[in-house]
Amino acid sequence: MENGVLTLGKYSVGTGDRFAHQAKAQLQACIQALNAGVQVVPVWNKSNREHTIIGSEPVSVRQAADAAVKALQWNHPYFCDADHITIATVSRFMDACDFFTIDVADFIGEPASTSDIEDFVRRHKSLLGTVQLAGVDETFAITEETLTQTAQKFLAAVKKAGEVYRVVESSKGKGRFIPEISMDETDNAQSPVELLIILAAIADEGIPVRTIAPKFSGRFNKGVDYVGNVAQFEHEFALDMAAIAYAVEHFGLPQDLKLSVHSGSDKFSIYPAIHASMKRFNAGVHLKTAGTTWLEELIGLAEAGGDALSLAKDVYAEAFAHSEELCAPYATVIDIDPARLPSPDEVRGWSSEQYTSALRHVEASPAYNSSFRQLLHVGFKIAAKMGRRYLDLLEANEAVIARNVTENLYNRHIAPVFLGYQG
Ligand SMILES: [Zn+2]
Repeated sequence: MENGVLTLGKYSVGTGDRFAHQAKAQLQACIQALNAGVQVVPVWNKSNREHTIIGSEPVSVRQAADAAVKALQWNHPYFCDADHITIATVSRFMDACDFFTIDVADFIGEPASTSDIEDFVRRHKSLLGTVQLAGVDETFAITEETLTQTAQKFLAAVKKAGEVYRVVESSKGKGRFIPEISMDETDNAQSPVELLIILAAIADEGIPVRTIAPKFSGRFNKGVDYVGNVAQFEHEFALDMAAIAYAVEHFGLPQDLKLSVHSGSDKFSIYPAIHASMKRFNAGVHLKTAGTTWLEELIGLAEAGGDALSLAKDVYAEAFAHSEELCAPYATVIDIDPARLPSPDEVRGWSSEQYTSALRHVEASPAYNSSFRQLLHVGFKIAAKMGRRYLDLLEANEAVIARNVTENLYNRHIAPVFLGYQG
């Protein structure tokens, strides 16, 4: 909190807790970071899509977060994120959340009025020519055509973000929540120069945006490693950070504006690049993860053996039987090779060790199976349908699950991204 305005902090991690049972184990990872000398602010995020699939309400996320914070005496900021909301879905999140991810991806490419575009270009004549960003050698050459075309592509989406922002502001109050704008769930990556121009439009719209989630180049599949050119990612990520610094200085956006990396879990091969860029620009990052924790619940259950292992196998068998339906909403963010999926009968015969080593995200392990992992990643609906049977086993095996959840979030995510090493 600064002058009555909520601030997110330089380093923050979004965590998803689909069944509202792991908040303590997740917070424990932030405590480990604090003990290692770095404050990483936890943000519990859950999208409308997840709430709908599971049948939960945003208040359950708030209650779990508050309880964890109290139990572990976390005397630092924490937030609840209304993840990927639009004007149609924001209202149910209003009371429970203090972080709003305004998703405008669907409006990219929608036409803006000619007068709005002309007005935008007129307002930003100072961007024309060569823009030199601090901390990087290369410059952006921006012509009137670039400005116009970028406005044609993004201005309507930014205006939509403004509408949603004002709805939240009128309810929560100015400075009483963290606004994020996300554009990641779309087909094309936004270039750093596009990001700069988008930020100009966001500033015009009067949105005090604190985090922005562009779509980066490369594939950010759910729960598995990055697929793409890591050197190119690092280059673009650095330019994005430089563009943000420029936007803060020239467009009057909040000083602590930072990048948000969506589908950020398990992207092990780009974490060194993210960490290096943060150091280079003395900038923060919001790393948004979600489903990786649900997979640790399955790993913990499998590790526990007995009924819990049987349940983990049942989840797989059901997910296998309903794979088409489960994969459909996530088709653009998964790459499952059906030939690599073991049959449910084969899995039925697996030991705890076979199940956990196929699922646990350890690239170097020969047993690791990314197709198996991705199918289970989208299979949380199966566990939701099991209802009490699933939750009772979560509760009965809390210790082993919590150990896996904390270890995954700290060792494989927070430590490499924010501390720059493997925990
Ligand atoms: Zn996203």
